[in-house]
Amino acid sequence: MWSSQNEQDNRHYGRHAKIPVLEPSDANEAKIFTELAFDLSEEFDSVFLLRLTTRISHSSGIVELGTRKNIEVKGYVKDIKKRLVLPAHARILHQIVEERIRRLTDYAEKFPFTHPISPKLIKKFARSVKKLIVIEEGDPVLEQEIKALGIDVIGKEKIPLCGELDPTAIKRSFGKKIYKTKIEVKDISERPPVLCPGCPERGVFYIISKLKLTATGDIGCYTLGALPPLNAMDTCICMGASVTNAYGMERMGGAELSKKLVAVIGDSTFFHSGITGLINAVYNKGNLNLIILDNLTTAMTGHQPHPGTGKLARGEEGKRILPEDVARGCGVEFVRVVDPMDLKKTEQAIKEALNYNGVTVLVFRSPCVFLKKPSPYLVVNTDKCNGCKLCLKLGCPAINLREIEKREKPVAFIEPTLCNGCNLCVQVCMHNAITTSKKD
Ligand code: SF4
Ligand code: SF4
Repeated sequence: MWSSQNEQDNRHYGRHAKIPVLEPSDANEAKIFTELAFDLSEEFDSVFLLRLTTRISHSSGIVELGTRKNIEVKGYVKDIKKRLVLPAHARILHQIVEERIRRLTDYAEKFPFTHPISPKLIKKFARSVKKLIVIEEGDPVLEQEIKALGIDVIGKEKIPLCGELDPTAIKRSFGKKIYKTKIEVKDISERPPVLCPGCPERGVFYIISKLKLTATGDIGCYTLGALPPLNAMDTCICMGASVTNAYGMERMGGAELSKKLVAVIGDSTFFHSGITGLINAVYNKGNLNLIILDNLTTAMTGHQPHPGTGKLARGEEGKRILPEDVARGCGVEFVRVVDPMDLKKTEQAIKEALNYNGVTVLVFRSPCVFLKKPSPYLVVNTDKCNGCKLCLKLGCPAINLREIEKREKPVAFIEPTLCNGCNLCVQVCMHNAITTSKKD
């Protein structure tokens, strides 16, 4: 649970779909198992599931490279009995799936999948030990399968069901002594995750917070708008849920709620899963107010392109699809493209959308800070700053307070190495205390 919304055990998908599950225990195995899964998938004519736990996904290790194999493309061969799943074909396919899982169970004697397991192998191992303990992260998947073979095991009555299993968690489950390493940390301030200085999404969240709106959110770095001091997001479930959550809420909450409700989604998430919810809201005559934060990239996962960037995965030019065109194509009549670095225009656009009767789409377009050159950093004129802390409400990590001589209250301070000169704080300060550092 480091960057996901939920903690789930996807081995259940393997059982449910009756496909084999392979679980590597380190980086090298992950590579070997991937290759093996491709080969076995051809041999058994089956999808294979490679399951990675959190630690495998977040670790690194030495991987032995092999020789790259060039596999000849076989070409398409029509086979409707296999690919056109009509009931008549499905009945036969079911028998094929069951026969395949039986063959895979035999194969599991040579290569231990975590689904299907080999009863022979498990029974043989159980006979060789005094006590059998199943330590598995997540649900008691193996534990239940082994118990179903009539073998007595110790499992989830001792081992935690939630959270990652590290050596300390295992020791603790068996009542072993935990030795703590004491590391003294002094004078290091807390650094919670935060939107970057100059982030184009900050201004929109500042206005949402200022207008005290309810905002259904989505998956992306903009989910950080939920954190103090912005506190500008109420929900975040899965990709696209900002749209459907807001639609459901306005249906139940009526006109009063919809005048205070916005859905906030990023550009790539909109293309990924926001469009169906938008069509649903238009079709059902909803009052959805959708805000698309278009920073022209997929920022959270490493700046991958998406249809709105007009670039393909390898950087070549593609066909650019604009979210505002998609919204109009979905039947939305109120569509505006706004610069989120202009707080006045941002506030005005959001207010107009909230007062409109019907579905609205506001596209706030400004590139992610990593896509543009920073402007000169800003400075606080301490003679003008009265320490009102209004600029701190932006939640920009470059702004802080500091004590200065002959002043009762601390005044604002902008850290020059962090500030990228986005100008948002200038628009917030009512005392003209923030100015550019650049000398003309
Ligand atoms: S810089 Fe402006 S907004 Fe910030 S504390 Fe000073 S007076 Fe208030
Ligand atoms: S200090 Fe002001 S100008 Fe600098 S990055 Fe933060 S909000 Fe933008």
